[in-house]
Amino acid sequence: MRCIVVGGGLSGLASAVWMAEAGYEVTLLERRGALGGRTIAIPQKEVNDVPDNGQHVFASGYENLFRYLDSVGTRHHVEFPGHMTARMPGGKTRRTAFWGLDGLRAMVGDLPGVKGLDKLRTARAQARIFGEALKQPADLDQITAAQWFDRVGLPLSARRAMWDGIVIGLTGDKPDISSAKVPADLLVTGMRKGVKMRTPVSIGYPTVDLDTLFVRSAEAFFRLNNVSVRTRSPVKSIDIVEGVVKGVTLRDGEELEADAVICAVPVWQVKDLLEQMPEHEKIERAVKALTPVPIVSVNLYLDRDIGMEDWGEILYDGEGVLEQVWDRQRMHGREPAGHWFFSTTVSASYELIKKSNDEIIAIQMEMLRRYYPKARDAQVIHSHIVRMPHSTFAQRPGTSGVRPEQKTSVTGLALAGDWTNTEWTTTMEGACQSAARAVEALLESEG
Ligand SMILES: Cc1cc2nc3c(=O)[nH]c(=O)nc-3n(C[C@H](O)[C@H](O)[C@H](O)COP(=O)(O)OP(=O)(O)OC[C@H]3O[C@@H](n4cnc5c(N)ncnc54)[C@H](O)[C@@H]3O)c2cc1C
Repeated sequence: MRCIVVGGGLSGLASAVWMAEAGYEVTLLERRGALGGRTIAIPQKEVNDVPDNGQHVFASGYENLFRYLDSVGTRHHVEFPGHMTARMPGGKTRRTAFWGLDGLRAMVGDLPGVKGLDKLRTARAQARIFGEALKQPADLDQITAAQWFDRVGLPLSARRAMWDGIVIGLTGDKPDISSAKVPADLLVTGMRKGVKMRTPVSIGYPTVDLDTLFVRSAEAFFRLNNVSVRTRSPVKSIDIVEGVVKGVTLRDGEELEADAVICAVPVWQVKDLLEQMPEHEKIERAVKALTPVPIVSVNLYLDRDIGMEDWGEILYDGEGVLEQVWDRQRMHGREPAGHWFFSTTVSASYELIKKSNDEIIAIQMEMLRRYYPKARDAQVIHSHIVRMPHSTFAQRPGTSGVRPEQKTSVTGLALAGDWTNTEWTTTMEGACQSAARAVEALLESEG
């Protein structure tokens, strides 16, 4: 049985690996010159280093992603230290653990910058947030996360200390844009995974670059398992005859036949590919509803240490976007080699992305100086900016149910990609869960 996987991002890589494991003869077609999609490393010759297109962090509840890492043999490259650090302007820090005493302090409203009676109000509002996430009042998809927080009486200080960051981290977008149902669903997913694994969901990171973690390892698997990989092979259409998939047509007109096709391209590139599918109107609705969110990642090679206390630090009291700083050398267990490498991520960076490289560096250095006293006189040896206007997607109010299932009405055709319906939103786990479900749908239909 021949299977074509269209798209070589994480969902396509996982689909190709698992279809090959199931005994299919797999061809993976990728539009660009290399595999990896939104999870790639971008080598910097000037500093002999391999930073990523943006720091990717893992949640311990990511089951399908770990299944993929098991398949390609790189699971040992992920660590969960069990804590991160919150940092205030001026440099004051507070370690935030995901369990134990620190977790309990957060539960009862003791968050950085939340004072006096607001602690009590925060504890009460947080209980309501978790309660409503579980009960799911009918109007949750009609309001934004910010309106939800107002409704449950969450003080602004608690939003700035933690909850706005959680919404941006979980949904990819700002609380005044994102539907309240998205963070609510994700809180429930987190609680369910926590109960299943008997430990609260915590955050971890890869100890190697993303190419080593996801791509080189997959390529080694493909060589061993006769998966044929064709890069620079954009697909124009997925071809369907009388409800059965027949193969694909490339943009240069070449036609490839297959018994099964998994379409694993992002939501903003999928529309034309699936025009022959009977339910293409549902796809078009998803394309319209799931709007792209930009992320700007800045890799800064400095002439000195800035004094980070933890591997990852979340900067509070920021600009209404989520700003994070990563100590990449510490995360990768490397000694500084003539430079100190810090990476910053600005999620929902609608404004920053429009600025010039020089402006972005100046803004990020100004931010580091504000939060890290040791960065006051730091000089930039080398910098590398990654602007990704299509990083993640946002789900605004009224879009619940818009993400399509992986199983389609067409025999032999399944959809994958972080935008299809999963327990998660726009994440690596969403991509891998969609692949697992797409493979399962095809194998089921083959009996
Ligand atoms: C900067 C950044 C930070 C992130 N941080 C995190 C994080 O911390 N944690 C987390 O879980 N997630 C994070 N994400 C999200 C995560 O990277 C994505 O959700 C995931 O990688 C999406 O994988 P995918 O396979 O669905 O799509 P993609 O990776 O976009 O792959 C799709 C592939 O299809 C190809 N393609 C498109 N059209 C065609 C065509 N016509 N023919 C052939 N090929 C085609 C594309 O070139 C691409 O390679 C982040 C994303 C970014 C950009």
